[in-house]
Amino acid sequence: MLCLGIEGTAHTFGIGIVDSRGKVLANASRTYVPAKGGIHPRDAAQFHAANARAVLDEALKVAKIGIEDINLMAFSGGPGIGPCLRTAATAARALASWLNVPIISVNHCVAHVEIGRLTEGARDPVTLYVSGGNTQVIAFDAGRYRVFGETLDIPVGNCLDVFAREVGIPHPGGPNVERLAREGKRYIPLPYVVKGMDLSFSGLMTEAVRKHRAGANLRDLCYSLQETAFAALVEVTERAVAHTEKKEVMLTGGVAANKRLREMLRFMAKEHGAKFYVPPMELCADNGPMIGWTGILAYKHGVRHKLDDTVVKQRQRTDEIDIPWRSG
Ligand code: AMP
Ligand code: MG
Repeated sequence: MLCLGIEGTAHTFGIGIVDSRGKVLANASRTYVPAKGGIHPRDAAQFHAANARAVLDEALKVAKIGIEDINLMAFSGGPGIGPCLRTAATAARALASWLNVPIISVNHCVAHVEIGRLTEGARDPVTLYVSGGNTQVIAFDAGRYRVFGETLDIPVGNCLDVFAREVGIPHPGGPNVERLAREGKRYIPLPYVVKGMDLSFSGLMTEAVRKHRAGANLRDLCYSLQETAFAALVEVTERAVAHTEKKEVMLTGGVAANKRLREMLRFMAKEHGAKFYVPPMELCADNGPMIGWTGILAYKHGVRHKLDDTVVKQRQRTDEIDIPWRSG
C-alpha cells in the first residue's frame, strides 16, 4: 500500500509518499516565508495552493511512481492555521475522490511522534515537541497520546522568533539566536514560568525585549533567553519522565535543531537511564511523510473517515485522538 500524505498546518506545504512497511519514498515541500512579520494566514494558504501542484509532481518524481499508484490519502486535519488547513484538506479530498481511494484525517502532533517512532526505533517515548506553532510534552497512556504539559500562551519557537524580530536579529530567528547565544558570557535573570506541568513564554519574551531596550548585551540576552526557556522545557519533560517511568525521551519539531536544547535534554535523559532520540531534521520539521505514515497506521488499524469527518479542526487536541495501533 502507498499513502500520499499532505502536510499543511502552517508555513510548510509538504507531500510525503510512504509505503505500508514505513519506507519513505518521497519527502517534498515548499515553505512560505512572509515578506515581513509573522505568518499571514491567507497569504500562507495562497502560497500552498500555488505550490501544491509543483510539490506533488516533485514527490511523484522522486518516488518514481504515478499518481494512480496511490492507494490511500492522508492529510493534516489539525491543529493549525484555518486557511492553510483548508487548502491542504481540499487538495487531499480532490485527489481522494479523483483516485477513488480512502482518505484519513491525521493529527499533526500525533504524526510528529509517529514518524520519530518509525525512523528512530523509539517504542514508547516521552516526546518534547517544540516548534513555531506548538510546545507540548506528549506520552502514550491508556489508548491515547496524553499531553503531560504544554504552553499556556506562545510556543517556544515563536518566543525566539518574535524576540529576534523585535531586537533586529535577522530571519530565521531561532538559528540566529542560537548562534549569538554561543557567544554569550553572562546570565541575565529572566522570568522562568512553569505552572504545574504547563509553561508560559510570553512574559519571558516581553522581558527579554525590554532588557534589550534598556541596553543589555544582545549575546548575553540570547544566551539567557535560551537557558531560561530550555530549562523550563527540560523541567516539565523530566517530570513527565519521572511520573511515567518511561525509558525513552524524544525531541522533535523545528526547535529540535538547537544544539543546546539537545544537550540539556540528553543530559536529563541520561540521569533517568533513558535513551534519547532526535529524528533527522527533515523529519523534525513539518513534513508530508509523517502524515502519510500516520495515515497508514490508522488505516491498517481500522480507522475510516467519511468526507464529513475531514472537516479541519484548528484547535484539535493531541489527546482527542484514539490510537488503536498502540492499544492492546
Ligand atoms: P516548525 O514550526 O517546526 O517549522 O519550526 C520552525 C521553528 O523552529 C521556528 O520557530 C524556528 O525559529 C525554530 N528553530 C529552527 N532552528 C532553530 C534553532 N537552531 N534553535 C532554535 N529554534 C530553531
Ligand atoms: Mg509541526
